[in-house]
Amino acid sequence: MLSQDVIKQHQAAGRISQTCLLQGAKLIKAGASMRDVLDAIEKNIQDMGGRIAFPAQISLNNIAAHYCPTTTDDIQFKEGDIAKLDIGVHLDGRVADNAITVDLGSHDDLTKASKEALQAALKIIRPGITLGEIGKTIQETIQSYNLQPIRNLSGHGLGHYQVHTPPAIPNVDTKDATELEEGQVIAIEPFATDGKGAIFESANPTIYTHTHDRATRNPYARILLKTIKSYHGLPFAARWLERIHGAGKTRIGLKELHRIGALQAHPPLPEQNDGLVSQHEHSVIVQDKPIIFTKLD
Ligand code: MN
Ligand code: MN
Repeated sequence: MLSQDVIKQHQAAGRISQTCLLQGAKLIKAGASMRDVLDAIEKNIQDMGGRIAFPAQISLNNIAAHYCPTTTDDIQFKEGDIAKLDIGVHLDGRVADNAITVDLGSHDDLTKASKEALQAALKIIRPGITLGEIGKTIQETIQSYNLQPIRNLSGHGLGHYQVHTPPAIPNVDTKDATELEEGQVIAIEPFATDGKGAIFESANPTIYTHTHDRATRNPYARILLKTIKSYHGLPFAARWLERIHGAGKTRIGLKELHRIGALQAHPPLPEQNDGLVSQHEHSVIVQDKPIIFTKLD
């Protein structure tokens, strides 16, 4: 069981997370700089007293997730883009994770499909519901729009200073009979696409997690590690390091840290058939009356 204090921390993190998500979504307009938008959102999180649980990220069009600009690369939004804004906030390690789709084109069905799938899944959350039933609900809702759920992306548990813990919450009917339990903290995140319904891991990651303590003699890697340790094992953006250490040292240091196995990289995730992708996400505490703590009252 979760203590009332822990529930309250999730709820407070959730209010900040949803407020910054909705305010950030309004900044996504044709001609705006993606980096400016993400910097503004991350500043807003901290101004509201939250901590960043993972880099605010915006994935466009056929990219489902994990895109983040660097200090040297940026993207301008264009008319017709479909943007997924995904942000995470924590308070003392208690995480809120939520995402929204901003449609700069006329991708009405695509946007609605993941939104309705999320709403349908949230309606059936309770202790005892199976993971397969949640996936089935998401899949059926998205397919009712003649679109496909992305089967190799899933929701997840939220741990203390952990953004991804078991159980994986499927977006398709896996028949998994594992039941949700009272007191679990989970994120549900359906992705809809007009493509094949699967993503792959591409190259050029800009988001990483420090996963293993490894010794290195590389001076740049050693400098970066000092900063990286302050992220509590939560995901971080290369851009954050570049602002402190410069783009050149950061590139060399990250390459070395990844090579020696200290870091897990999270590269952008494009759809396998280059389909367009939408996503919606909320975080929930599982109980008879579930607490959707990234929703504002
Ligand atoms: Mn998310
Ligand atoms: Mn998530």
